[in-house]
Amino acid sequence: MRIGAHVRQDSDPIGFGERLGADVIQMFVVDPQGWDKPQPHPRTEEIKSSPIDVVVHSSYQINVASTNNRLRMPSRNAVAQQAQAAADLGAFGLVVHGGHVRSDAEIEAGIVNWRKLFERQQDKGGFAVPILIENTAGGNHAMARHFDSIARLWDAVGDFGAGFCLDTCHAWAGGEELIGVVDRIRAITGRIDLVHLNSSRDDFNSGADRHANFADGTIDPQLLAEVCRTADAPVVLETPAEGVAEDLAYLREHVG
Ligand SMILES: [Zn+2]
Repeated sequence: MRIGAHVRQDSDPIGFGERLGADVIQMFVVDPQGWDKPQPHPRTEEIKSSPIDVVVHSSYQINVASTNNRLRMPSRNAVAQQAQAAADLGAFGLVVHGGHVRSDAEIEAGIVNWRKLFERQQDKGGFAVPILIENTAGGNHAMARHFDSIARLWDAVGDFGAGFCLDTCHAWAGGEELIGVVDRIRAITGRIDLVHLNSSRDDFNSGADRHANFADGTIDPQLLAEVCRTADAPVVLETPAEGVAEDLAYLREHVG
């Protein structure tokens, strides 16, 4: 089982992973709040040669589902650029949130845009690493909050080899039960490529995206351990920094 965490110091991701005893780390390749183009990482060789596995999380502005051209077009470019930067680091995938459409648009329009993302890139030889679509917590017009819309999305993008990232905080806060969640997602996507194992500061179906450490979140830690045990995928913690080591220790003790 490969367990680790999201990197807090982008300048030294492997050092962060080693200090934590992580098997896998997740990192950004750009400022997650901006639209910068990724630059080569100064520690590329160290990252590539490390036994610690790496996955890249894309920047938060990206919304490939959007019906607004001025958001969707830069989002498509950013996904392609960040996938290339991920490949340059030897990462096994690029996590991209499912995104959403505005409240006056149909979810179907966003699903069509997701399909176009893959179709257009296929003409250029595909993405440099697998795109792992992550479920999200909030909104009524999200592509990947409720599992029935994930099923519709998968009908459109599954053929292109899209991967799936299951976030337990987002599923819970989004109103999807965590008991049996691994089987329910696998029945839809056929795969789980990555787990974001987070507890939640908020209640079931709150729609809020606020991660918590296992000891003080609203999700039963035994349920989190169960997801970790059954998902058969690398597990990355995105819990608050002060409790990450404790969360990891809990998993090592209860999943092993
Ligand atoms: Zn996540």
